[in-house]
Amino acid sequence: MSPRGSAAGRTHPARDDSPRVAPAVTSVDEPASPSKPGPDEPAEPPAREDGISDRWSDLLDYLSDAAALIGLDPDVHARLRVPRRILEVAVPIQRDDGRVEVFTGWRVHHNTSRGPGKGGIRFHPALDRREVSALAAAMTFKTALMDLPFGGAKGGVRCDPMSLSLAELERLTRRYTWEIITLLGPDKDVPAPDVNTDGRVMGWLMDTISLARGENVASSVTGKPTVIGGTEEHAGSTASGVVHVVRDVFAELGVQPAGRRAVVEGFGKVGAPLTFLLHSAGLRVVAVSDIGGAVYNPGGLDVASLSAHAARTGSVAGFPGGDPLDPTELFAVPSDLAVPAALEGTIDEKIAASVAAPVVVEAANGPITADADRILDARGVVVVPDILANAGGVIDSYFEWAQNRQGVAWEQGVGGRLLQRIMHKAFAEVWARSQSLHADLRRTAYAVATQRVADAMTARGLFP
Ligand code: NAD
Repeated sequence: MSPRGSAAGRTHPARDDSPRVAPAVTSVDEPASPSKPGPDEPAEPPAREDGISDRWSDLLDYLSDAAALIGLDPDVHARLRVPRRILEVAVPIQRDDGRVEVFTGWRVHHNTSRGPGKGGIRFHPALDRREVSALAAAMTFKTALMDLPFGGAKGGVRCDPMSLSLAELERLTRRYTWEIITLLGPDKDVPAPDVNTDGRVMGWLMDTISLARGENVASSVTGKPTVIGGTEEHAGSTASGVVHVVRDVFAELGVQPAGRRAVVEGFGKVGAPLTFLLHSAGLRVVAVSDIGGAVYNPGGLDVASLSAHAARTGSVAGFPGGDPLDPTELFAVPSDLAVPAALEGTIDEKIAASVAAPVVVEAANGPITADADRILDARGVVVVPDILANAGGVIDSYFEWAQNRQGVAWEQGVGGRLLQRIMHKAFAEVWARSQSLHADLRRTAYAVATQRVADAMTARGLFP
């Protein structure tokens, strides 16, 4: 039996709308610091009145469902509904033309009961406090689900990195790091790359922290270039983990991967290597999209040529080895597997109704809105949730952090084998528990993770 849709008796515990949780000391809606946006920057966006999914609300719903499944102590539940701390900072930088521009940044610790905060840094023009908080909370549950000794954190700056020169990007990164530095450190909070940040940005972060402390602190940041303590595997680790999960879910469903058709949304640090790895696993990648457009070839795209085209032109759009495709049609293309690997909320109710694949594996964080999730469930589509599917990156980050702390580089191949073992164990546990809980994979994953976080919180007790 598969944990798909209503056919498997998915439970929908009542939404927890009751106002039993006291207002947060620092709410995700209210500024945590008095810093004001600069004259060139829009004020704090409203709480997603623009029709974009409110990921924070979705996450609280998933937590409530998990709480009902495991009978979570209401006091622990109340604490998990609020990030532990939200630091909002002004990030002033001098532009190349001499002007000073003030950006807004955040670093959020959702929960640190199981270990230091862990989570990426994102530079994006639509970033806001609620989104960063939701991403931080997702990290709490992801690290717990993988049983890593970390809590959940996330951060970023609301900016359009494409409009910054390299020198401006470095100034922005270093000033942002400086502003949040009190939260950072190998035993406090360990950032990593996320959307629009990469190894180079992590190198600047690590250097700024090291300069401030007057010592080399390699383990303060992961996803660094290998020459300063990063791992060879990091660049492809999230994509590798996604492919392990694809193999596992296909095996449970009795599907042979060879020749199966896949569509991939997003061609960045996750989507690009993922396309290559899916192809290497024997699947046919028939459609790929990015911010610039989409391309479709029912016979399978030549992924090496597609990569070369994207590297040359900056987008998969216009690839001569396929036909142009309206990106909104990507998931409607006939396929056996759909992998969103771009941004949050790209699969809304409308798209969900047209998803052709029977299996969706979330490589991106929060790509399916809660309403869309219900539609996919009702249609019997198996959805492997983000906190399970895209954990490969944070697992490799754990290996990087551990090696930096040990001062020892592991032999090549050790990390890859361990990553597969950890992901396979987590997948098997979630799949098996979904049967006994009569819940879908997302709620089961949240239930397993929430129990681990709750156990840590209970073991530590409540101060004072
Ligand atoms: P990235 O910035 O490297 O790439 C993002 C890609 O999405 C780009 O190809 C961009 O063109 C594309 N994109 C943006 N908007 C789009 C749209 N509307 N339609 C189609 N494509 C669009 O980011 P990334 O690191 O690859 O992260 C992608 C997702 O994976 C994010 O949700 C991120 O949080 C998640 N994630 C990343 C990692 C990691 O190791 N980088 C780990 C876990 C999860």
